[in-house]
Amino acid sequence: MYALKAPSSHYRSGKGRMKDLHIDGIWTDAGTHSDVLNPATGEVVVTVAEAGKAEVDAAVRAARRAFDEGPWRRTTAGERAGLLRKTADLLVRDREELARTESLDTGKTLGEGRIDIDDVTNVFRYYADLADKDAGRLVDAGSATVVSRIVHEPVGVCALIAPWNYPLLQMSWKVAPALAAGNTVVLKPSEVTPLTTIKLVALLEEAGTPPGVVNLLLGDGRVGAAMVEHPAVDLVSFTGGYATGEKIMTAAAKGVRRVALELGGKNPNVVFDDAGYETALDYALMAAFVHSGQVCSAGARLIVQDGIHDRFVADLAARADRIRVGNGLDPETETGPLVSAQHRAKVEGYIESALEAGAKLEAGGKRPEGPEYESGFFLRPTVFSGCTRDMAIVREEVFGPVVTVERFTEEADAIALANDTEYGLAGAVWTSDASRAQRVAGALRHGTVWINDYHPYLPQAEWGGFGKSGIGRELGPSGLAEYQESKHIYQNIDPVPQHWFKG
Ligand code: NAD
Repeated sequence: MYALKAPSSHYRSGKGRMKDLHIDGIWTDAGTHSDVLNPATGEVVVTVAEAGKAEVDAAVRAARRAFDEGPWRRTTAGERAGLLRKTADLLVRDREELARTESLDTGKTLGEGRIDIDDVTNVFRYYADLADKDAGRLVDAGSATVVSRIVHEPVGVCALIAPWNYPLLQMSWKVAPALAAGNTVVLKPSEVTPLTTIKLVALLEEAGTPPGVVNLLLGDGRVGAAMVEHPAVDLVSFTGGYATGEKIMTAAAKGVRRVALELGGKNPNVVFDDAGYETALDYALMAAFVHSGQVCSAGARLIVQDGIHDRFVADLAARADRIRVGNGLDPETETGPLVSAQHRAKVEGYIESALEAGAKLEAGGKRPEGPEYESGFFLRPTVFSGCTRDMAIVREEVFGPVVTVERFTEEADAIALANDTEYGLAGAVWTSDASRAQRVAGALRHGTVWINDYHPYLPQAEWGGFGKSGIGRELGPSGLAEYQESKHIYQNIDPVPQHWFKG
């Protein structure tokens, strides 16, 4: 049975009664509950409370009060930095429990879970360090008797909504800068993977967050929609699918609330003939199949030059066939299950459509066989060659362990293929020619471009998408700016009459 270590105010005693919502500093239950499943076994891990409209209203009002009237507004940036640092220390203390919980909830391997928690810790530390260095700026107004300066202030009440693939990581990219900037927040993790966010809120409470500053709601899109529509919310930061992002932006237009959207991707991974062959192959597998491809920046579109294409596809397929799929908590497992039965069915629908469209199946395309796979949501790593731009599997985000391979001859063709997507989140180029690497990276219309690497990101470097991959940037200084208003304070220190009007 999943057990959450939590501070005193958090009550949890088995499946019957769950106080998982956190509103105005109090852990509370609600009228309805939902089951959280382990994707590797299909078993219920835990039952959690689900918010209704009343809880959404109470949480947003609590955040509003805490922002307008509470002590939070009077905290210094240094004090807020201290709180984030304390939270980072608590994340380190509970790393193993958090990593196991993330693996249990999402299906990812325990190793990936540990990497996630370390990354979350680094994000808290980064924004702790940035919080008190962000001092606005002085403006030269061209007069010795004027002091003009730009100060940064919090936006207010922020609704933070996260997806299921990197539950704690995606939430940390929002909550750490939002708190560093002095906002109050209402968090909603995905209904599919809420567990580590419950724990994070408990840690933030333990670190000393005042009541109402961090509120937690659980539930599905209806809860998210009610948060976005609430008139007391000033900003919505959302990570998830494009269709949901579009709805959120439409809803946030009422009252002209701020939105930050981190949406899907269909990311090209371009390999030139002169790339370091074995490394490019190794990373192509990792780019496509880590976390069973359920990664917004997954290298799902391989674009390979003529000279190495056939050999590359054959080697890729052979190695994909050898990937050990299994329960994420098994140390032998290299990639885990898909997050749910519904999601696997969606990915299988794409595989079907690719076959109908004439793509050639080189590896996978089916569920693994054996008793250990029967009740989980597993799917073999899948490779398709002979893919063309008109195929749905090439154009749409599949979000599963599926990589398509397209072929190119000239550099210009590779760029055209890589940019032929409505998305623009991330991409990579593999070549040993340094000037070509820079030329191609410069031409790609994607928010992150890796050269001879795949997937690394840094808390100090902006992350976000061009096109339908979203609006705004997380991480880096821009990730803090998302949660700040800029105010210009202009002081005339020697005002004298100017006789603006003659009378
Ligand atoms: P999703 O859009 O279905 O759900 C995301 C969150 O939004 C969930 O918490 C959900 O309950 C909530 N939600 C659903 N409908 C809502 C509504 N009408 N109003 C408000 N909230 C609502 O996405 P998902 O399936 O959880 O996540 C997968 C998607 O996330 C993929 O498209 C992936 O590319 C994207 N993603 C993007 C990034 C990035 O950095 N750009 C990172 C991770 C995931």
